[in-house]
Parts: sequence; structure tokens; C-alpha cells
Amino acid sequence: MSIKLEHLESLQLSQDQVVTSGSKLLEHGTDWLKIWAGQPSLILFPKSTKDVLNIVNWARSYKYPLIPEGGRTGLSGGTLALKKEILVSFDKMNQLIDFNPFERTVTVEPGFITQDLQEFAKEKSLYFPISFAAQGSSQIGGNIATNVGGVHVIKYGNIKRYVLGLEVVTGKGELLKLGKGLVKNAVGYSLKDLIIGSEGTLAFITQATLFLVSPPENKQVFLIAIEKSQDMLQIYKAFKNQIEILAFEFFTDLALKHVLKHGGLSSPLNRAPFYLLIELEGKDSEKALRIFENFYEKNFVKDGILSQNSKQAQDLWKLRENISEAISCFKTYKNDVSVRMSKMTDFLQDLDKLLNHHYPDFEKIVFGHLGDGNLHINILKPESWEKKNFTKECEKVNNVLFELIKKYEGSISAEHGIGLLKKDYLFYSCSQEEIAIMKSLKKIFDPDQILNPGKIFDL
Ligand SMILES: Cc1cc2nc3c(=O)[nH]c(=O)nc-3n(C[C@H](O)[C@H](O)[C@H](O)COP(=O)(O)OP(=O)(O)OC[C@H]3O[C@@H](n4cnc5c(N)ncnc54)[C@H](O)[C@@H]3O)c2cc1C
Repeated sequence: MSIKLEHLESLQLSQDQVVTSGSKLLEHGTDWLKIWAGQPSLILFPKSTKDVLNIVNWARSYKYPLIPEGGRTGLSGGTLALKKEILVSFDKMNQLIDFNPFERTVTVEPGFITQDLQEFAKEKSLYFPISFAAQGSSQIGGNIATNVGGVHVIKYGNIKRYVLGLEVVTGKGELLKLGKGLVKNAVGYSLKDLIIGSEGTLAFITQATLFLVSPPENKQVFLIAIEKSQDMLQIYKAFKNQIEILAFEFFTDLALKHVLKHGGLSSPLNRAPFYLLIELEGKDSEKALRIFENFYEKNFVKDGILSQNSKQAQDLWKLRENISEAISCFKTYKNDVSVRMSKMTDFLQDLDKLLNHHYPDFEKIVFGHLGDGNLHINILKPESWEKKNFTKECEKVNNVLFELIKKYEGSISAEHGIGLLKKDYLFYSCSQEEIAIMKSLKKIFDPDQILNPGKIFDL
């Protein structure tokens, strides 16, 4: 798709809002996955909702495809321009518009950085509970478009729980104000909820109103080393039943090995095949210690460390949060799956067999938000393998893995979305009827198919 210069002239944007060449094209064309190389024909930087409306109406008249782009930390290829589409970046729509202390709500433009919202909430003695390793670059618009989860879902849920209002521009060029910041709003189908997690295929999010909560008190981190994955469910049940845990994360010793090597660190506890990282409030630490001791006496756990101050808590968190960064120097093939917690023990054993059988020669890094039934499976490319052959090999195994997921009635994408990476496998988790309804909705919101075409499914 090449853009005609005379068409570009009719677009009412200033010079600093249009990039047609140079290193920025390359930079914005590359995403975190680095599987494909995007080749955007240009990047547009709206500064207002009016600009977004202009862009959509302009693109509709020439049938130019547009791809909404946030912080480009998505892990499903959702922002990739493989067919020279136009990227619409929200980097210049990054303002905080309103804070309502009485309602504890905040209204922001889509380019507002996730971590900045956490810091803003902290300044106001409030808390924005969405946190994950890419929060320093990801944007609220991208977070909402992917219904981001993160490490605190077990207590606080996904971002959807906090979105009270959305302003959006559909692919048809309609401006919709959805939800209006109301806590209660039973007025037919919730179009707001439909936009959340729609991966930029139905509408551009141009403004969002979110509510903030009271901060947890004196967060502490318990890192526990365990021998057998079969024991994890019992440990989970004991903690979950007695304590309101804030996070319940899992990683393997191989994942830890990479983090320690990457950071030049040494392990703070005796090594074991698996680790659980449990975040809790200080008031529950005595109870947590008793649960730990009980499992220690039964030989379920090999070692454990409970943070004594916030610096130590942060250092323990780094062992889990830095896994993605530690393996980012490798080419990795990623899967992000979920099953119900009650099925997790059996699933883990089947998964272990499957990975060892199908990937005997590759390093397999498994970690994730265990308390949400969500595991990230990362296969590392050995240096001796060609990237193309490696990806093909991994894609072959996808079918076996997703059959297993189907057997367990799980999800082939727990939180990363479908984008490009998983669109060929959508049918493993959604029925033909569901996919047909999604396609009909897409046609209503985006009749000319100019909005992120080819993501989630092909029409
Ligand atoms: C190290 C690391 C850790 C991660 N951990 C987690 C985790 O724990 N939980 C989790 O859920 N995800 C996680 N992710 C995935 C990712 O960070 C999230 O999906 C994030 O919400 C994406 O935000 P973004 O601004 O980077 O969006 P982008 O990557 O830029 O875009 C993501 C999708 O949203 C669309 N989009 C972006 N902005 C808009 C807009 N304004 N309007 C409409 N559509 C838009 C894009 O078209 C694309 O389809 C992680 C990623 C990394 C790299």
C-alpha cells in the first residue's frame, strides 16, 4: 500500500505530526516480539480527538489502513504494519485531563504512560493496581485495547474493572462517549466493554476515565523454593484461603538462572526446581510464616525468604519481573496460556511432558501469574538454528499445545491478545459462532476495514 503525496496534502496535520521516512519508521516498525519486521509507510501523531477524527475520515475516503499504536510493548504483533499500513501513534496525546478526588477518578489521554498513572495515584495517596514489567513504556490506551492484566489480577482484576468511561473514534469515523464515568450504567449493550480488549480493531481510544483505589499497606514479598510442581496447588490453596494475597507468581529454576546471570546476581535462597513469589500485606506476614512453616515441616518447600523492608521486596520482585528482559537477548517463541486453577496441577504435568517431548533441544522458560491460572511459555532459539526454521518448528508444536489447552478448556491467549501471532489458532479457544459474531461486529464498527486489518482474524 503506497500513499499518494497529493492525498497526504489533504490531511490537516502539521509537519511535526507526520513522519514519512527516516529512523523513526524503523523504530516504530519494530515491536517487542521481533519476529516480523514492520514496514509502516508513514506515522501520524494526532494531538487531539479532532485530529483522530480527521485521520479516520481521510483514511476512509482513500481506503488507507490505519494501525493504532501505544507503547509497542504488546506481545501479539498487534501494532505491526506488515503491508505498509499507516501507524497512528498516541505519543503526542499523553496528557492528564482531569482528576476528581471525590470520585477518585482520573481522565487521561491514551498516550499517558502506565507507570506515570501509578505515580500520580501515589502522590494522591491512592493506588492504580495495574502493574507489570513493561509499565514504564506501555500506554493506557494500549493497556485498555489489550485489557491488560499484570501481576495483581488475583486481587484487583484486569484493567477492565477500572475503566468507567471511554471516548473512542470508530473505524466509521463516529465519536462515541461510552460509560461517561458512571459507576452504574445499565443502558443496553455495554459498548465500552466491547472496546476493551478489542486490540485496536474496532475503534481508536482517545480518552479514558479510570477509578483509583486505596493503596495496600506495607507490601511484603515471600519467595518460596519448592521441589515438586504437584505441591503448588496445595500451597496456593493454603495462602488463598487464609490471606488476601496481592500476587501469586511462579517461575522455574531455569528462568531464575537467566535472571541471575543477566543481572550478575546471586540467589537469595537455596535453589530448587520451582519458585513461588507471593505478595501480601504486612498485617498478614505472621499468618504467611505459619503457612510456610507447616509446608516446610512436610518437606513441601525447600527454602523461603520473607522480605524485611521495601528494598528487599523490590529485589525479590526483580527475580520474577526481570525474566522477560533477561531472555530478550535470545530469539524467543512465546505462548501465553491459561487454564482454571483447579486443573492446573494436571495441566502442568502434561505441559512438562509435551515440552520435553517436542522441544528436546531447546531451552524452555516457563513462568507466569499462577494464581490466575496463567503461564507464559518461552522457547529460546539456539544460536545454531536459523530463525525461520526455529519459528516453523515452534509453530508446528503450537497445534499440539493448543489441542492440550482445548482438552483442558483453557485459553490460547490469557492476556497478550491474538493480534497476528495467534490469529491462525483462534478457533482452538472460540467457536465458529463466536468468531462469526466478532466478524459481524467488526464490519459494523469498521465497514471499510481500515482499522488494524488482518489482526485477530481475516475477514
Ligand atoms: C516485559 C513485558 C511484560 C508484560 N507483562 C504483561 C502482563 O503481565 N500482563 C499483560 O496483560 N500484558 C503484559 N505484557 C503485554 C503488554 O505490555 C500489554 O499488552 C500492554 O497493555 C500493551 O500496551 P502498549 O501501550 O504497549 O500497546 P501496544 O503494544 O502499542 O498496542 C497493543 C494493541 O493495542 C492497540 N492500541 C494501542 N493503543 C491504542 C489506542 N489508543 N486505541 C486503540 N487501540 C490501541 C494496538 O493496535 C495493538 O493492537 C507485557 C509485555 C512485556 C514486553
